[in-house]
Amino acid sequence: MSEPQFACINGELIPKEKAFVPLYDHGMLYGDGLFEGIRVYNNRVFKLDEHVARLYFSAKALNIELAIDKTAMIADIVKTAKANGHVNGYIRVTVTRGEGLGLDPKHLKGKANVYISCEQLALYPKEMYENGLIVVTVSTRLPSPDVIDPRVKCTGKYINNIMAKAEANRYGAGEGLMLTREGYVGEATGDNIFLIKNGAITTPPASIGILQGITRDTVIDLARGFGIAVSEPIITQYDVYNADEVFLTGTAAEVIPAVHFDGRDIGDGKPGPITRKLIAAYRDLTQSTGTPVA
Ligand code: PMP
Repeated sequence: MSEPQFACINGELIPKEKAFVPLYDHGMLYGDGLFEGIRVYNNRVFKLDEHVARLYFSAKALNIELAIDKTAMIADIVKTAKANGHVNGYIRVTVTRGEGLGLDPKHLKGKANVYISCEQLALYPKEMYENGLIVVTVSTRLPSPDVIDPRVKCTGKYINNIMAKAEANRYGAGEGLMLTREGYVGEATGDNIFLIKNGAITTPPASIGILQGITRDTVIDLARGFGIAVSEPIITQYDVYNADEVFLTGTAAEVIPAVHFDGRDIGDGKPGPITRKLIAAYRDLTQSTGTPVA
């Protein structure tokens, strides 16, 4: 597969080496922006409508005004993937509030800036999908939803996730589990968490202060389609350690087993049967649905 050649800035395709962010872009100055990470499988953009819907919900929450509607955004994303011959890979959409020095939004020139780019991205090696991840609980807590609601996928919030990921790296772990300020289980630094106990699935509720992942929602639908009960209770570390199986979900990571938490094996320390079934179902779905690129 050839390297992506073009980025799209405010609807215009630009050779990637000439695609720059303005010096006083509010995203650059203050992390004042939003983003979506989207995957393309087999020449189709997976869950594109859902990603764009979440982007506009985030924009509404932050009062960021986009110059284009959702239909035009979808068209620009598909146009960028097509221009790059991007039949399998990752698309990053970044929106920033606009340009202007000083944090007061009334001084901004024009509307939001929209940056779209394509990359190849493999988060984990294949063996980790077969053997499972080692996870540690990190000391970096999730921001409380009464301060920054993590359902808003805003760029500035991610400094916290970066610190949490660096902490997990220091322990040599594949992911870091982040707790809420109250100490309840929230999410991993870039993924949602699911537990399986006695054949039933639980995952923390989005309102606790986590991102409502699109992979999360997809996996909930797949599990319910198999007749597996899914609920969203408050979860503690006790529940994680005593689960039969645990897995993580995210656009970039997809569905990945997590077999070891904070020095404890989960179940027998190997990916379990329900996790494997959901990984296979997710792979099938990604290969067979989505918005066509060409
Ligand atoms: N939580 C966080 C903090 C994330 O950054 C992501 C990745 N976007 C997820 C969960 C998973 O969300 P999705 O399935 O929509 O990619």
